[in-house]
Amino acid sequence: MAGFDPAAATAAHLSAMSPQAMAKAVDYTHQQHWLLLGGALVSILVAWIILKTGLLRRIQAGMERNKPRPVSTSFVLPLVYAAISAVLGLPWAIYSGWWVEKKFGLTTQPLAGWLSEHLIKAVIGTVVTALFFWAVYALLRRARRTWWLWGGVVVALFVGVFFTLAPLYLEPIFNKYTPAPPGPMRDAVVTMAKANHVPSDKIYIYNGSKQSTRYTANVSGMFGSARVAMSDTMTAKGADVAEVRGVLGHEMGHYVHQHGLILMGGFGVLAAVLFWLTGVLFPVFARLMGAKGVAGIADPSGFPVLMATLAVVQLIATPAANTLTRFTEADADAFSMEASHEPDGLSKALVKTAEYRAPNPTALEEVLFYDHPSVSHRVRAAMDWKAKHLELAEKTAAEDAALEAKVKAQGALESGPAAAPAGTPTAAKKP
Ligand SMILES: [Zn+2]
Repeated sequence: MAGFDPAAATAAHLSAMSPQAMAKAVDYTHQQHWLLLGGALVSILVAWIILKTGLLRRIQAGMERNKPRPVSTSFVLPLVYAAISAVLGLPWAIYSGWWVEKKFGLTTQPLAGWLSEHLIKAVIGTVVTALFFWAVYALLRRARRTWWLWGGVVVALFVGVFFTLAPLYLEPIFNKYTPAPPGPMRDAVVTMAKANHVPSDKIYIYNGSKQSTRYTANVSGMFGSARVAMSDTMTAKGADVAEVRGVLGHEMGHYVHQHGLILMGGFGVLAAVLFWLTGVLFPVFARLMGAKGVAGIADPSGFPVLMATLAVVQLIATPAANTLTRFTEADADAFSMEASHEPDGLSKALVKTAEYRAPNPTALEEVLFYDHPSVSHRVRAAMDWKAKHLELAEKTAAEDAALEAKVKAQGALESGPAAAPAGTPTAAKKP
C-alpha cells in the first residue's frame, strides 16, 4: 500500500454514507442546535411562570411564620420548583427528547416507555436539584464573597459522586448490562484491556436499542466502579472485530487517561466562573422578571430568577463545556490508535455515528456545538496515524480477518467452545 493518501482514505470512509443519509444527519444535527436554544427559552418561561404565581414566596412565608428558617426553605423551595418545572416542561421534554428522535428514526421506543423512564429521571433530578441548591444556598449565606468559588467545588463533588454511582445505581434502572459473552471477540478485547491495565472483567453489553438506535459505546464509573459498555446496536449495525477493538480502545482511553477526573475538575472550574457571572447578572434578571420582594441571590424565594439566570449563563458556556469534552474525545481516539492499531476499524465505527453527528460541520459550528470532534476530523486523525504506522495497521487487519473467521464459526456453532478463560465476569461481579 505504498503512497497511502490519508485525505483520500478519509473521503473513502465517509463515502459509506449515502447523500440522503448525509442530508438527514445534517438536518438532525442542526435541529439539535436549535433545541439547545429552545431548551433555554423554555427554562426561562417556566421560571417566569413559577415566579409570577408567587407560590414559592407563600410557602416561604408559611414556613417562616415564627422565625427565619433559611436551612429548610433553601431545600424545600428548590424541591417544589424542580417538581413544578418538570411538569410544566413536560411537553417540551416530549418534543425534544422523544418526538424529534422518532421523526429521525433514532428511536423505536413507544411514548409510554419513554414517559415512564422520563418520570424516574425527573424524580431523581428533582431530589438532586434540591440537594445541590441547598448546598449552594448554604454557601451564599456563609461565604457571600467567595460562594461562587466554593460552588465550583460543590459541582465537582456532585459530578464525582454521579460518575461513581451511575453504573452501580442509575444505569441498571434503565438498561440491562450483561458481561460480554465468551468467545474470540471478547478474547480480543480482554487481551487489549490487559495490555493497557484496564479491568478486563468489566466489559459489558447493554440493551441500548431499547431507547435508541444509535451506534454507541461508553465508559462510566470512577474509583473502582468503572466499566466499559457497548450498546447492542453495535452488533445490530454489523460491528466487526476491527470496529469493536477500535471503539473499545477509545473507551479504554477515557479510563486510562482519567478523563472522569479531568472532567470533574474542568466542570468545577467552569461552574465557578458561571456562578460568578450568575452573581453579577442576578439583579439584572430580577429586575427584568419583575421579581418583587426577593431579598437578593441568597433568598430562596428568588429561586426562579436564579434558574433563569443560570439557563442563560449555561447556554453561553456551552462552547466552553464542549471544548473540554472534545479535548478528551480526541485524546481517547489517539489512545485507541496506540492500543488497538485499528485506524480503519475506528473509522468505520465513527462513520456509523455520523447519523446523529453530521460529519462535516463548519469550523465555527464544531467549536460552538460539537461535544466530540467532527467525524471527518476524527477519521482524518486515524488515517494520519495509519499513514505513519502502515505495517502495524496491516498486520492488525490480517489478525482481525483470522479472528473474524473464528467469530463466524462460533456463531454457526451457536454454543461455541464454552471453556471460559479465568477472570470471566460473573453475575455477582456485575454492578
Ligand atoms: Zn468518547
